[in-house]
Amino acid sequence: MPEGWAYLDTAATAQKPRPVIDAITRGYAQDYATVHRGVYQRSADMTLAYEAARRRVAGFIGAQENEVVFVRGATEGINLVAQCWAGTQLKAGDRILLSALEHHSNIVPWQMMAEAKGLAIDVVPLTADHRIDLDAMAAMLTPAHKLVALAHVSNVLGSVLDVRRAADLAHGVGAKLLVDGCQAVARLGVDVRALDCDFYVFSGHKLYGPTGIGVLWGRAELLDAMPPYQGGGSMIDRVSFERTTYAPAPTRFEAGTPHIVGVLGLHAAIDYVSAIGLDRIHAHETALVRTTREALAGLNSVTLFGPEDSAGIVSFAIHGVHPHDIGTILDESRVAIRAGHHCAQPLMDLLGVPATARASFGVYNSPADVDALVKGIERVTRIFG
Ligand code: PMP
Repeated sequence: MPEGWAYLDTAATAQKPRPVIDAITRGYAQDYATVHRGVYQRSADMTLAYEAARRRVAGFIGAQENEVVFVRGATEGINLVAQCWAGTQLKAGDRILLSALEHHSNIVPWQMMAEAKGLAIDVVPLTADHRIDLDAMAAMLTPAHKLVALAHVSNVLGSVLDVRRAADLAHGVGAKLLVDGCQAVARLGVDVRALDCDFYVFSGHKLYGPTGIGVLWGRAELLDAMPPYQGGGSMIDRVSFERTTYAPAPTRFEAGTPHIVGVLGLHAAIDYVSAIGLDRIHAHETALVRTTREALAGLNSVTLFGPEDSAGIVSFAIHGVHPHDIGTILDESRVAIRAGHHCAQPLMDLLGVPATARASFGVYNSPADVDALVKGIERVTRIFG
């Protein structure tokens, strides 16, 4: 955690705990070698460590090992499903259902695929308290809907999705459910079988791990039926100029030399949050969210977005002050928040604002950080009168 800062931008990216930094340093400084090809011991050991991380991820989300695909992040995971699943399984006239609060990475890949294949996209509205409206979703779903793609936790509002109900609704019309778990994995225990979704994606860097590494989980039968994502080394069974055959999933989706040390860092990050306990992390962040919302609700000019029980995130606006000005003034007091559209422009349109200010919490935040935030916001309201 950076000294002297109230770092309140964990929803963008989490600070890295010492065990993760140590795992990365050890990976490069001591143990480094390639994976899956070397005949020498170091490479064999690194391959074991790489595959042990895959097992660790699988255990962390209640999956089978062969269902865990290492990708660059949630963005790549969603693009992979859009291209390799939607791109091959869906046909013109099929429909995809998204929600009004999705991150651009859970909108744009579907739009690109919709354009290429003649698919249609429908958007589930939000409830008055800024949750994905599952009753509305139930009324909207038709047999033409083949895929529903929703955020488990909104990166702007902190609203938590009832994934199990969303899965039941999607499956009721024969659609698959993809869950964007970016904001959920570091705060809610995720069990993909209990959630009953079909795909689940997340990024390592929001889970206290490194950037450049993330996870796509898919049901084995879905992954097995999907063609490769990218062609190259490591994803093949046999190559000749006449005919190339591919390795089974997940190897088929991991072309090229992977982010070896990133995977080790992700393993360390999962160990880190698991040792503390996601229940404790969630309870800690919930208390900080509650204190923040209570303090801000007492300020006349502040509007709060999102539900009361928002997971780890508080988005707000100050009447007459642009969120960038809020962010800049808070920065002078070494309070780091995010100001902007948070890669959710359709949601900004729905909220009727160009941007919001967003404070998001992590395991390392304390009530003193909330104090610093609230004092900073009081200063903003004084400056802008
Ligand atoms: N979905 C959500 C809900 C997110 O918060 C983010 C990151 N802001 C993403 C997807 C994209 O993650 P990444 O940029 O790590 O691929």
